[in-house]
Amino acid sequence: MLIDTHTHFDSPKFAQTRADDWARAQSGGVVAQVVASVAPFNFNTVRDLAHVHAGTTYALGIHPMFVDPLGDDALDALRAALVAHIDDPKLVAIGEIGLDGFIKHSDMAKQIRFYRAQLQLAREFGLPVILHVRHAQDTVIKYLRQYSINQGIAHAFNGSFSQANAYIKQGFKLGFGGMLTFDKANQIRRLARELPIEALVLETDAPDMPPSWAYQQLNYSHYLPRIAQALCELRGLTMPELAGQMRLNSVAALPKLQLTLDELSR
Ligand SMILES: [Zn+2]
Repeated sequence: MLIDTHTHFDSPKFAQTRADDWARAQSGGVVAQVVASVAPFNFNTVRDLAHVHAGTTYALGIHPMFVDPLGDDALDALRAALVAHIDDPKLVAIGEIGLDGFIKHSDMAKQIRFYRAQLQLAREFGLPVILHVRHAQDTVIKYLRQYSINQGIAHAFNGSFSQANAYIKQGFKLGFGGMLTFDKANQIRRLARELPIEALVLETDAPDMPPSWAYQQLNYSHYLPRIAQALCELRGLTMPELAGQMRLNSVAALPKLQLTLDELSR
């Protein structure tokens, strides 16, 4: 029983195959997924999907790579969506939010302003956050501390051991996915092997970040069991051991996931 803690299940790339893809993931043992939104244009889409496909939950937030063209009305739209849906058991986090220092020509001051505004919303609404971070780990962590945000996931973690430990100290879990399956991904494989097992969660980021066997192709949640198997091999764990621990970690990061897991077991 596995949980895919980060997908973009709403992607138009899945338009023709979405229900079949999820059925295939479920039959492979993936019981739940978290669909991250990226901007107000897909808030309703991710929520609707969560209420159609069993085991599907969602996060609402503005992704740093989508910030540049947006006005402050986007933050107002996020607040309005949170007010309207905070009691929705399928809404498990604010996300994905963060900072991306890798994309060129982005207004970093504006990214930081949107990130801070969304941390404030996370505090106000009592939700964990799902973070997207590239070339900005220390700044992201600095504001987590400043806003006393102590629950969530640093998705697709790709930083140093000391940055990993800073997230862990802050109460965060670190998301690992298809990158684990590349022999050349030495740093990510070392992190996944050596960090405390309690700090890890599994994700695909489907349709992005495909594993080695789907290089430059679409990624799917039904690849998660094979990714989990790669982590089992790195850690010397059996699949039931790993799955049990990942479930605990996922619920610790995103407590409202438990409501969906309970519903599935009824
Ligand atoms: Zn994402």
